[in-house]
Amino acid sequence: MIVALKPQTTEDRKDQLIGWLKGMGVDVHVSVGEYLTILGLVGDTTRLDIDLIGSLDIVDSVNRITEPFKCCNRKFHPDDTVVEIGDAKIGGGHFGMIAGPCSVESEDQIVTIAKAVKEAGAQLLRGGAFKPRTSPYDFQGLKAEGLELLKIARAETGLPIVSEIMSAADLPLFEDVDVLQVGARNMQNFDLLKELGATNKPILLKRGLANSLKELLMSAEYIMASGNEQVILCERGIRTFSDYTRNTLDISAVPMLHELSHLPVIVDPSHATGIARIVPQMAMAATACNADGLIIEVHNDPPHALCDGAQSLRPEEFADLCEKIRAIRKVVA
Ligand code: PEP
Ligand code: MN
Repeated sequence: MIVALKPQTTEDRKDQLIGWLKGMGVDVHVSVGEYLTILGLVGDTTRLDIDLIGSLDIVDSVNRITEPFKCCNRKFHPDDTVVEIGDAKIGGGHFGMIAGPCSVESEDQIVTIAKAVKEAGAQLLRGGAFKPRTSPYDFQGLKAEGLELLKIARAETGLPIVSEIMSAADLPLFEDVDVLQVGARNMQNFDLLKELGATNKPILLKRGLANSLKELLMSAEYIMASGNEQVILCERGIRTFSDYTRNTLDISAVPMLHELSHLPVIVDPSHATGIARIVPQMAMAATACNADGLIIEVHNDPPHALCDGAQSLRPEEFADLCEKIRAIRKVVA
């Protein structure tokens, strides 16, 4: 349920109402906008008398939210959420460029790539240390050592680091990682989502391979309902009957998610396509439809990459793409 308060409502009256609502057993999320203050009520609202609340002199309107997702719903929080990571901001008109290799392979590799993507204009460095591979015989990532190498690259460049967490048991290792990525394969690992909801880290939540937008938003809801509101949604391609690309980039997810939710929405054209030569076109398309950022795989030696070389841009290709993205941003901003 959402309760919109009239603009002249005093703090005292607002607090009184919030106290009463909490006493009725619901959680109250307050969103102060430019014109209206919105109280978003979560929990069992069936005991609340909607007519009684609507009749209060400080209340502008009361509406029930029919969607099952509440905290991430745009109706709960009309303004865009901006997720801040160090100097980088994503959402609400701020564009975040995240780049780096699929996997951290060595100190030299990650530091070389980190310097190159920073120079090109990336704000954050990605690098997988725990890798969810389809085959148990494939490279599984450097794990804890990979996270340490990412921290070295951060120290060398100042770029905040983004890395995938596959199990809540690994959380202590991620204490000094700036953004925790939930990969497509773990989008509905609800126990993991709940544990991440109890942290104060920004979470980059990828859409599952075969999940609907509603399911993606329900997964964001798991994190937010546990208390963490810093969630970035990521469209990374879904399974369809496409035969020449790794996945199908559902570009319409970007405007649709923006309508449904206040959370930032970024796009991963690398996993969406699996083909480096078409990554730039998809990155530009995502930018043109107002994505709040991109996450792009970049490798200094793609043919020898231990993971996802075929979809990785070389640093100079990435730098060229960044210039184009800046040009498109000027037009759509
Ligand atoms: C990745 O980012 O390297 C990755 C494994 O992505 P996804 O979960 O989208 O497949
Ligand atoms: Mn990858």
